[in-house]
Amino acid sequence: MQGLMMDFPLTLQHAFNRAIRLYPRKEIVTQTEAEPHRYTYAEWGKRVAQLANALARAGVRDGDRVATFGWNTYRHFELYYAIPCMGAVLHTLNIRLFAEQLAYIVNEAEDKIIFVDGDLVPVLEKLAPQFPSVELYVIMGDSPYATGALQPSVDYETFIAAQPETYAWPELDENAAAAMCYTSGTTGNPKGVVYSHRSIFLHSMGVGLANGPALSEQDSVLPIVPMFHANAWGFVHAAAMVGSKVVFPGRFMDPMRIGKLMESERVTLAAGVPTIWIGLLSLLGKEHFDFSALRSIVCGGSAAPQALIEGLQKQGITLLHAWGMTETSPLASIARLRSYQLEQSEEEQFSARARQGTVIPGVEFRVVNMETGQEVPWDNETYGELQVRGPWVARAYYKDSESAAKFADGWLRTGDVAVVDQDGSLHLVDRTKDLVKSGGEWISSVELENLLMGHPKVLEACVVGIPHPKWSERPLACVVLKPEYVDQTTGEEILEYLRPHVAKWWLPDDVVFIDAVPKTSVGKFDKKVLRNQFSMHELP
Ligand code: ADP
Repeated sequence: MQGLMMDFPLTLQHAFNRAIRLYPRKEIVTQTEAEPHRYTYAEWGKRVAQLANALARAGVRDGDRVATFGWNTYRHFELYYAIPCMGAVLHTLNIRLFAEQLAYIVNEAEDKIIFVDGDLVPVLEKLAPQFPSVELYVIMGDSPYATGALQPSVDYETFIAAQPETYAWPELDENAAAAMCYTSGTTGNPKGVVYSHRSIFLHSMGVGLANGPALSEQDSVLPIVPMFHANAWGFVHAAAMVGSKVVFPGRFMDPMRIGKLMESERVTLAAGVPTIWIGLLSLLGKEHFDFSALRSIVCGGSAAPQALIEGLQKQGITLLHAWGMTETSPLASIARLRSYQLEQSEEEQFSARARQGTVIPGVEFRVVNMETGQEVPWDNETYGELQVRGPWVARAYYKDSESAAKFADGWLRTGDVAVVDQDGSLHLVDRTKDLVKSGGEWISSVELENLLMGHPKVLEACVVGIPHPKWSERPLACVVLKPEYVDQTTGEEILEYLRPHVAKWWLPDDVVFIDAVPKTSVGKFDKKVLRNQFSMHELP
């Protein structure tokens, strides 16, 4: 017997209509060089319709890919809705990708139009001759920018100016593609993840769950995570759906500007990778900001060290640790204290909050032994690969059949190694490729980094496995000291600090001091660079 409920399509048009009808006065703010740009959802909605009209006039049809190459701004937010709501596919390009990868992505997706921020024109210009599918470049910016080799091109405001402020939105299939985003492809070519209207709709509901990030109408949300990094973790879509105020950082992401923006816009929820929060925390010792409106910051993308969570809490800032991947839209799990944990000691609570936590409703997981394929016991000790499935988890990559094994039998192989505790709470030990394989045993680089970053003199630390004749690999600790301790700290002192906390064979063989940890295009520690740099390092 079938249910008798309406077959109502779960599309972004629903979120768009809610934003403009129910929250027309709510503000959207973008940081600029001068005064912030401000307008309301009502004004945004009119421009979204103008943009859709302009796209249709430019020949964009159902299913066409329209790309963006930009910072987090209100114009990018207009594109986030106009493109999918008219039936086309928003393709967010990572502005920090290598040239060859960008060319590969634009060609594979066959992008028809690219919207580019004015100051990023020089980056794209060099590559334009390699983009045969691109018919038009639309330049976003407030000052006239030279467009050089980007031809034909038009200015964004001119593009939308004469267009009507309403659009005859088509009826859409909820399973139609709405957006696509390539993973940064640490090995091989980048892989395209294609989100549907339905998956974004359901994911947005997940972002609003009380035991998730709990985004609501009462929030002023600041997505520092780029709009090209897994849809700014879903906060931008969810904000329109629930009617939150949105604050965009533009291209200004230094800790001082972020701190001031959070203060002036009474930000309640901000989202970004650990490096952003490590930067802000080190500033908080010297600068004072009024963060009284702030309820939490959401941190993910790589493991949030427990010392960071504790340090921020001492400053009155609650960090919510979340885990996900481009392939999981991305929100998949979040560390919120269970009711019984509210009675526990501070130490126990911090350690629970440093986990990746519980999968949110809609996502299922299993952690399996990589050789036998059996689920590991929930003993918080046995390592296994984390696999997930759910309505906002990818089931394949775009135009790619080689990776079928990654999605076999309906589960996504995440490539992350985890342990599970009795509550089913996840703790990520490492990425499979970053585990240090020493004498047939595994050492968690993440665990060592977390401990190292608890050292009072350490700002950032990254542990990589380097080749070893006897043990195959041994851990090397690459440490960035806080400026006041540079040249005043020894490797032995760092190892002494670790010694009581780890098994003897986990202790790094050496400590090297570096100026900064190299970062990937989305601000994560780039272990590949350090592994290459120190592959010939002579261990003592
Ligand atoms: P990339 O593969 O380019 O880094 P993603 O952003 O999709 O792009 O990366 C997803 C990966 O990031 C996860 O598989 C995991 O290894 C890591 N990750 C994300 N969030 C966390 C977290 N909270 N703790 C540890 N690792 C995380």
